[in-house]
Amino acid sequence: MNKKNKSVAIIGGGLSGMSAAYELAHAGYSVTIYESGEDLGGLAGSFMVNGTYLEKFYHHWFNNDKDIIRLIHDLGESDKIKRNFSRTGMYYANSFFKLSNPLDLLRLKALPFWSRIRLGIGTLYVQNISNWKKLEKHRAVEWLPRVFGKTAYNIIWKPLLIGKFGDTYKDVSAVWFWNKIKLRGGSRGKEGKEELLYYEGGFNALVSRFKSELINLGVKVNLKCKISSIEIKNNKLNKIINSDGDSFGADKFLFAVPPQIIGSLLRKSSVNEEYAKTFDSIPYLANVCLVLVLSKKLSDLYWINVNDPNFPFVAFIEHTNFENSETYNGKNLVYLSKYLPETDPLYNMNADELTDFSIPFIKEMFPDFKEEIIEESFLWKERYAQPLVTVNYSKIKPTYNTIYNNMFYCHMTHIYPEDRGTNYAVREGRKVGTLIADEE
Ligand SMILES: Cc1cc2nc3c(=O)[nH]c(=O)nc-3n(C[C@H](O)[C@H](O)[C@H](O)COP(=O)(O)OP(=O)(O)OC[C@H]3O[C@@H](n4cnc5c(N)ncnc54)[C@H](O)[C@@H]3O)c2cc1C
Repeated sequence: MNKKNKSVAIIGGGLSGMSAAYELAHAGYSVTIYESGEDLGGLAGSFMVNGTYLEKFYHHWFNNDKDIIRLIHDLGESDKIKRNFSRTGMYYANSFFKLSNPLDLLRLKALPFWSRIRLGIGTLYVQNISNWKKLEKHRAVEWLPRVFGKTAYNIIWKPLLIGKFGDTYKDVSAVWFWNKIKLRGGSRGKEGKEELLYYEGGFNALVSRFKSELINLGVKVNLKCKISSIEIKNNKLNKIINSDGDSFGADKFLFAVPPQIIGSLLRKSSVNEEYAKTFDSIPYLANVCLVLVLSKKLSDLYWINVNDPNFPFVAFIEHTNFENSETYNGKNLVYLSKYLPETDPLYNMNADELTDFSIPFIKEMFPDFKEEIIEESFLWKERYAQPLVTVNYSKIKPTYNTIYNNMFYCHMTHIYPEDRGTNYAVREGRKVGTLIADEE
């Protein structure tokens, strides 16, 4: 059958779903995206601040993120990529430490001199490991102190592991951490300074451009369409049904949504519980991101890792030290980010409550901070923000296929040995799109 007569329904319009749609439309399929949100973009979506779009969750790319760079090239928009040197730092024991280049590491007074040397040598060693498979059986909590020494581990890496993975930090694989260090180390420009990429007009401009390209290719986009049940017949996925009760058929279906959502759809359609359970096997942490609009800037740093265990956020990100505040009519924008289980009381706070909760901590960090400079605050929450990458993950990494030969899936759990990110959402989306297209 001509592919033009074949249809693919894509559930989830984040960058994975959009990238799969791009490949499938190019291959001649008739493609429809069903997205529950008001627009495409998923976790890389944006909202309006002072007349300009800003990412709900802070976003940038590394200069070695080749799949997103390739996509932007394919869209004919390479000149929209902006390259900025990042100003990175660390907050520890009531002090700030710059960490923007290798020399800053040598000057890192938070560590005794020999620990700094060990940290530097350890970083070079880790960046040169190419065979990640030999790290697979190690947990980060055992491997990191061996490579960097206990002092550097306790002060530099352990707070970040706990900040990102909470109570589950001991389960994180060494591979996850290796990749973080390697990726950041590789994203350097001249003089060894870290170079980060952004897009003119922010991620919203890229998502809009990508969406219009998909529409030009004939992709139909069905927004505010939450798929709430599915129908399985004769061992095939037959239909998807949205929360208004409208049903949609297709020859093939790709779920570009968190696996837990697929598990619950399967359960509702009375699929064998053992199979539905497999979609819950890789836990995800949730995230809350408080965005403060300030009348004054707080620091000169873009990214501050918070290594103080008494501080409830893992990172303090002053976005307008990365993208100029003029873009936002002179406002200064700060993100406070926390990864947490959905049961954490902070996950259930509203924007005002979380702002009030955060103010004493911001004052501790910046003693001159006055809450009057907060003009607005926004809160973004995501239940499925970060999968937990455990030891020997390659043995549990899911495939794109399901037990139904016309049903596929792809989300952050498919990304390995790298960590989730839009670059890899594009890579995996294009891969699964090609796989579905090549199947005939
Ligand atoms: C705090 C934070 C910071 C980040 N920072 C960066 C960064 O700096 N750089 C970077 O590259 N990446 C970053 N990322 C990661 C990046 O955002 C993700 O890896 C990427 O956007 C994931 O895309 P996706 O399409 O795989 O999934 P998602 O973005 O999760 O897309 C899934 C889509 O499915 C939709 N959906 C869910 N259920 C249904 C349903 N039942 N029916 C219909 N639609 C449904 C959702 O609304 C969503 O649009 C960050 C993520 C977070 C949480």
